[in-house]
Amino acid sequence: MTMTLADLLAPTYDAPDWDVAACRGDAHPDRWFPDPSEDFDYAARVCARCPILDACRTYAAEDKQSGVWGGHEYRRGKIIR
Ligand code: SF4
Repeated sequence: MTMTLADLLAPTYDAPDWDVAACRGDAHPDRWFPDPSEDFDYAARVCARCPILDACRTYAAEDKQSGVWGGHEYRRGKIIR
């Protein structure tokens, strides 16, 4: 089964409206979890046009997420780049 990024979003977290997330159904969910040596330009471009960017960043910080959220890369809720 192919996993999409939408599968990784928290279905019960009701602050952001995940249904309108620009990454929902994106065909390249791995781009939101780059290796340290990889850029995340692709994910950042998608995030830049996302209507819930601010809420996504808040969620990532409060829920101590890792990966690219709201155009930044987080590690356990802290922005690392
Ligand atoms: S800001 Fe980026 S990671 Fe967050 S929901 Fe939107 S597209 Fe997805």
